[in-house]
Amino acid sequence: MASSSSSPAPAPAPAGESLRQKRILSSKLYLDVPSSKAPVVYSPAYDISFLGLEKLHPFESAKWGRICRYLTREGHLEKKKLVEPLEACKEDLLVVHTEAYLNSLKSSYRVASIVEVPPVSLVPNWIVHKKLLYPFRKQVGGSILSAKLALERGWSINVGGGFHHCSAEEGGGFCAYADISLCIQFSFVRLNISSVLIIDLDAHQGNGHEKDFANDGRVYILDMYNAGIYPFDFTAKQYIDQKVELVSGTKTDEYLEQLDNALEVCKSRFQPQLIVYNAGTDILDGDPLGKLEISPEGVVTRDEKVFRFAKDQNIPVLMLTSGGYMKSSARVIADSIINLSNKNLIELGNQLG
Ligand SMILES: [Zn+2]
Repeated sequence: MASSSSSPAPAPAPAGESLRQKRILSSKLYLDVPSSKAPVVYSPAYDISFLGLEKLHPFESAKWGRICRYLTREGHLEKKKLVEPLEACKEDLLVVHTEAYLNSLKSSYRVASIVEVPPVSLVPNWIVHKKLLYPFRKQVGGSILSAKLALERGWSINVGGGFHHCSAEEGGGFCAYADISLCIQFSFVRLNISSVLIIDLDAHQGNGHEKDFANDGRVYILDMYNAGIYPFDFTAKQYIDQKVELVSGTKTDEYLEQLDNALEVCKSRFQPQLIVYNAGTDILDGDPLGKLEISPEGVVTRDEKVFRFAKDQNIPVLMLTSGGYMKSSARVIADSIINLSNKNLIELGNQLG
């Protein structure tokens, strides 16, 4: 909007909003990243190793490191080109979360129910924070930084993040912090943008960000998910701008056709300045939680379609790896990143050949 000296001064932001802005402006998470680095964000601190308890959740808790090892050892990305994020501190988390919610994480019992690993309730809370919540907070810092990198470079990938079941006031489904809501709120203030598209293609409905952006016209949500599995959140469902509900057993061809149609509709309805792509791999055939039957090649094609959708319209895109709990997930994600690079949709800087 054009401004002139005769325009009235803008109305002051409400108290809560101005505190949020102050927190965002004083955050240290928006690091200056040199151009010698690739916009691929990862820290060894992402990986969870928790007294063997991680084995009790159907979750491959070293997925994030494994993805990076495939990329670096096979010569697609130099280790030194990875971007290490800072941990999201309490002031950063308060940009979205309530103090009451963060305090609730001081109960190991509460954290145990969020990550769905009951024995965690018996572990002293300081250990729970160090071994479980700290890795999550590093990943949250990575998601927030990824939005800045996407605007600077046109694309970015946070090798972790995508905790789409957590909202400002409630965690669940292995998601303790609302990194998607946080990264979008930071982008509004620090990147001066006012329209964000969330493309959520994890197998589960993304009820966390849906509740956080209920009736917020700046955010358009396209969510394609299996309607027959967790979380069955009918309140959050009404805040999805464009939903594609799948049934258990949906196969690759039908999935990709539905995605093509959805992206076409989306293109005609909303013009975003940033795309947050939640790229869960729990759509893979054999995933015990996602219950869809998408082939590894189908996942690679899916990611290519989303990146092409972004590139064709010249919209910055950031990808989060989100759910995907099988041992094979890391290989598929690495293959997908390699494919994006081979198709010139991203530039890792040192491809072989
Ligand atoms: Zn999921």
